[in-house]
Amino acid sequence: MALVITDDCINCDVCEPECPNSAISPGEEMYEIDPNLCTECVGHYDEPQCQQVCPVDCIPKDPNHEETPEELLAKYEIITAAA
Ligand code: SF4
Ligand code: SF4
Repeated sequence: MALVITDDCINCDVCEPECPNSAISPGEEMYEIDPNLCTECVGHYDEPQCQQVCPVDCIPKDPNHEETPEELLAKYEIITAAA
């Protein structure tokens, strides 16, 4: 499933450049993840890169965007084909 940034975000900007899918952007009040672009880093890395670097640990999985590993890989293939 995609990940989501909670309102614990301190807008530190550390996660945005780490995302291989450019899924993270500054939102109106805090950083946001586009669920259409987040693959949990499947296809690029073994672990979600944003979670690794976030200093306040505010990027859990989004229960509103449940996806299987196969669906995440399919999303990765669509994103990279379009790039
Ligand atoms: Fe980007 Fe990976 Fe974080 Fe998803 S899990 S937002 S693809 S860095
Ligand atoms: Fe927010 Fe964490 Fe990203 Fe920093 S690394 S902008 S605290 S989500």
